[in-house]
Amino acid sequence: MNVFGTVKTSINTREAAEHYGIEVNRYGKALCPFHNDRHPSMVVYDDHYHCFACGEHGDVIDLVANLYGLPVLDAANKLAYDFGISQDKPPTKEMQEQLNRKSEAQQLRENEKLCFSALLAYMNLLQEWKVLYAPRTPEDEHHDRFVQACHWLDYVEYLVDLLIMGDSYERTEVINMMLADGKLTKLQRYLEKVKKEEHSIGEQTI
Ligand SMILES: [Zn+2]
Repeated sequence: MNVFGTVKTSINTREAAEHYGIEVNRYGKALCPFHNDRHPSMVVYDDHYHCFACGEHGDVIDLVANLYGLPVLDAANKLAYDFGISQDKPPTKEMQEQLNRKSEAQQLRENEKLCFSALLAYMNLLQEWKVLYAPRTPEDEHHDRFVQACHWLDYVEYLVDLLIMGDSYERTEVINMMLADGKLTKLQRYLEKVKKEEHSIGEQTI
C-alpha cells in the first residue's frame, strides 16, 4: 500500500483535525478553518470532513493539504510522520516552514479578535468622554475629548456592530480596513497612551 492508502486507512480525520488545532465539539462540528467561520459549519467525520458554509470537503489528506497549503503527497507524508506510521525522514526545512505558517483563516480570526477588542475599548472610551467632558453650560468651550467623541463615536459604533452582526464578508472588510496603513497598531498605541495618561492623572489627584 502506498502512503496515501496507509494514511487514509490508519488515521481518523477527526483525530487529525484535533491534532492540528481544530476543536471538534461533541456533535462532530468545528469552526471551519477555510473561511471566516463564526458558528461551527464544518462537520468532521471519521473518514472525511465537509463545511456546509463554504463547501470545502475532502479526506484526511485533503484536510492537511488545505490547512497548510501543501501538495497532497507532502500532506500524506506529514500525516504519516506526525502519527508515527512512517519510518521516513522528518519533514524538510521548507516543509516545516510552510507548516509553521498559520492558515489564512486562522490568521483572519486572530486579527478579528484584535480589531474587535481595540474598537470596543475605543468605543467605551468615547462613550465615557461624551458624557464626562460634555459642556455643562452653553457658554462652555468644547473640551477636545468631547469633540473627538462626537466626531468618532457613531463610526466606531458602526464598526463594532459590523464585527458583531456582520456576515463574514463585512467582517473581513472591517478587518482589512483596520489593518491597512497600520490603523490597528495606531489605535492600540493610542489606547495605551490614554490609559497611561489617565493613570498619571489619577496619581496626581491623590
Ligand atoms: Zn468553511
